[in-house]
Amino acid sequence: MEKARRNHRYFWIDITFLIVMIALPISTMSLITLITKESAVTQASTKIETTDSHKFELVNSNTLGNLISETSLQKGNTASSLNQKDSTKYVAKDEEIKGDYVDSNKKVALTFDDGPHPKVTMQILEILKKYDAKATFFMLGNMVEKYPEIAKNVQRAGHELGNHAWSHLDLTNLGAEAAQNEIAETSAIIENTTGQKATEFRPPYGAVDGTVRNQTDLPFIFWDVDTLDWKHRDSKQLLTHVKDITKEGSTILMHDIHQSTADGLDAVLAYLQSEGYTFVTVSDLNN
Ligand SMILES: [Zn+2]
Repeated sequence: MEKARRNHRYFWIDITFLIVMIALPISTMSLITLITKESAVTQASTKIETTDSHKFELVNSNTLGNLISETSLQKGNTASSLNQKDSTKYVAKDEEIKGDYVDSNKKVALTFDDGPHPKVTMQILEILKKYDAKATFFMLGNMVEKYPEIAKNVQRAGHELGNHAWSHLDLTNLGAEAAQNEIAETSAIIENTTGQKATEFRPPYGAVDGTVRNQTDLPFIFWDVDTLDWKHRDSKQLLTHVKDITKEGSTILMHDIHQSTADGLDAVLAYLQSEGYTFVTVSDLNN
């Protein structure tokens, strides 16, 4: 009887011990799981909060909703994987916003003829630099001979060099040989002076015929926007003409020998930039 009672007591001690041994690990594991979840949510929320700019607020709050529901299903890498998702959303959103303002295909080619000129060309180079603009300079052979340092400055600034013949004559009146000399000697002096080849030809007055076309292998470059800067010599009218007729892919004709052109150029570039245009060389425009 005494033995039976003692056995009975041991039985309850054993049962209690067993329950404690089973229940303790389970509750500990549950606690750890709970803490992990909590910290995943906290980490992820912190990352979202640190993302700047209010334009993403809406995306953030949606993401936070997804985040919490997903966190309750997942453990471990939840926060970082969601954070990756966030970045993707931000990039897409950012590109959309950028796309409204800058269309990278909206290009114009600025071209300057009849130089180089010691004062006007230098002023134009400064303005182009300010707008990070690359342009094409169609130089006259006789001007390169007179102002070799200016020609070098144009080359050093990274612009494209073009051939505009030697002495600004109408080549269609000259005959084949004289026309060829006008072009060939200009190409030679541009390359000898600057170390860079002229890659295009623009005939003076845009005057061409079959004979002139046969005198060079360089591509013939004309224009679709004539600023008439040589005629009005008015810095304000430069912008008026550009505003009226410039479109995507335009080649704009100006002359870097008139002070009014240099004086009006800043306003022209500011306007075109605000319209989303970028400024490229003729070669870049045509490629
Ligand atoms: Zn010209």
